[in-house]
Amino acid sequence: CGVFGVVGVTDAANFVALGLHALQHRGQEAGGIVAHDAEKGFNSAHRFGYVRDNFTKSSLMETLPGDLAIGHVRYSTAGSKAAVIRDIQPFFGEFSMGGAAVAHNGNLTNADALRRELIERGAIFQSSSDSECIIHLMARSIQRKHADRIADALRRVEGAFSIVAMTRTKLIGVRDPLGVRPLVMGRIGDNGYVLSSETCALDIIGAEFVREIDPGEMVVIQDGRIESSRPFGPSTGRFCIFEHVYFSRPDSIIGGRSVYETRRAIGVELAREAPVDADLVCPVPDSGTPAAIGFSQESGIPFALGITRNQYMGRTFIEPTEQIRNMGVRLKLNVNKSLIRGKRVILVDDSVVRGTTSRKIKDMILDAGAKEVHFRIASPPTAWPCFYGVDTPNRDKLLAAKMTEDEMRDWISVDSLKFISLGGLYRAVGEAEGRNNACPQYCDACFSGEYPITPSDQIEKGFEM
Ligand code: 5GP
Ligand code: SF4
Ligand code: MG
Repeated sequence: CGVFGVVGVTDAANFVALGLHALQHRGQEAGGIVAHDAEKGFNSAHRFGYVRDNFTKSSLMETLPGDLAIGHVRYSTAGSKAAVIRDIQPFFGEFSMGGAAVAHNGNLTNADALRRELIERGAIFQSSSDSECIIHLMARSIQRKHADRIADALRRVEGAFSIVAMTRTKLIGVRDPLGVRPLVMGRIGDNGYVLSSETCALDIIGAEFVREIDPGEMVVIQDGRIESSRPFGPSTGRFCIFEHVYFSRPDSIIGGRSVYETRRAIGVELAREAPVDADLVCPVPDSGTPAAIGFSQESGIPFALGITRNQYMGRTFIEPTEQIRNMGVRLKLNVNKSLIRGKRVILVDDSVVRGTTSRKIKDMILDAGAKEVHFRIASPPTAWPCFYGVDTPNRDKLLAAKMTEDEMRDWISVDSLKFISLGGLYRAVGEAEGRNNACPQYCDACFSGEYPITPSDQIEKGFEM
């Protein structure tokens, strides 16, 4: 998901709409905005579909006045996959000291247990979302300030959370102790501040990047002042390494480095680790493109756009059902036949999950007359599901959970298949010494199976680590 908030500008909701539009790659199912106006109070709108199709209409935006607003773009990982408007964030609650709204990116790993407990104690849940627990936990806190209630609530939850919240006067941001999902702060105008999942959404509204929110940090922004605290005590971050590979937008900056540059470096590393003689390096668009550029630069094999993507389709894997996902590949991608015919082609993609994409693309490339097909993958084999906010399927659907690299090559039926090593990926994201196995610098559970946060709901359902 993507979260965004702004305070200290007129018509804040319009800025939020633009920010969410820039974060649309993080969630395409639905979006919501809550705004606060001194006269008109809190107003909200929750809609299915793209931001641009909803939050551009003046008839809707006029209902969201005020100089403080937050928003969310949704991609369902927890909760119902069916389209239910009640699941769309931000969530709102009335408290004795006034209303507050919360938008959450990430996934809580003890939400099932918390929900059961809260329902037993009288909470009436409105949605199937794990994030709603936060509002109910806030309601049960005895603190007198919203921010303290949020901190109380977040000390009870486990999992990954980057939160943007608001009260009548405050914009609040929090990251979980490991800082699994991103959150950055920016400045706009004389007195305005912005919180956003990624820096690309600061650029769209002309905000200036200030800094990242630290893992385990809470910031409370009011009247142009920032108060920072550490509600969970000291912690060392373990950012999601897959944000670098796939999830974030290539023009965003993470840890002072452009995501594009990191992805290009992954391609360079991959070309060193798994070279192969061929005529063309083609990206699987769009997520494989920067890595393919790096691969081509390092290997000297010409880069070519052998596959064209229909720009009007969403990202395949973000489509919520398997059926739509399966159709998606052909609706979305097409091979440039005259370029591919008779060639030995290296295809670079960011990841292999179920393997369905790779298999279909291989068919398309062979139909176009390619002589050889070699897959190079910009992440290690995805052998474990993510429980922290990326929608990977159950373990039994993950190709790499069932097969060795050679078996995957035979199953996809290509001339060669190689994944970047975990160490190589760490070097590419800027860790010159590679992975510190005693104390890994990133979350890489989907590749290593080492879960930095115990997925307790999943374990209760029978998941074996
Ligand atoms: P597959 O067809 O192997 O299941 O999906 C691989 C494709 O989905 C890749 O091209 C990649 O861009 C995209 N993808 C990236 N991350 C994920 C993920 O976490 N889950 C799924 N299902 N697909 C992903
Ligand atoms: Fe990111 Fe993978 Fe960790 Fe999920 S399991 S947070 S996708 S590195
Ligand atoms: Mg892809």
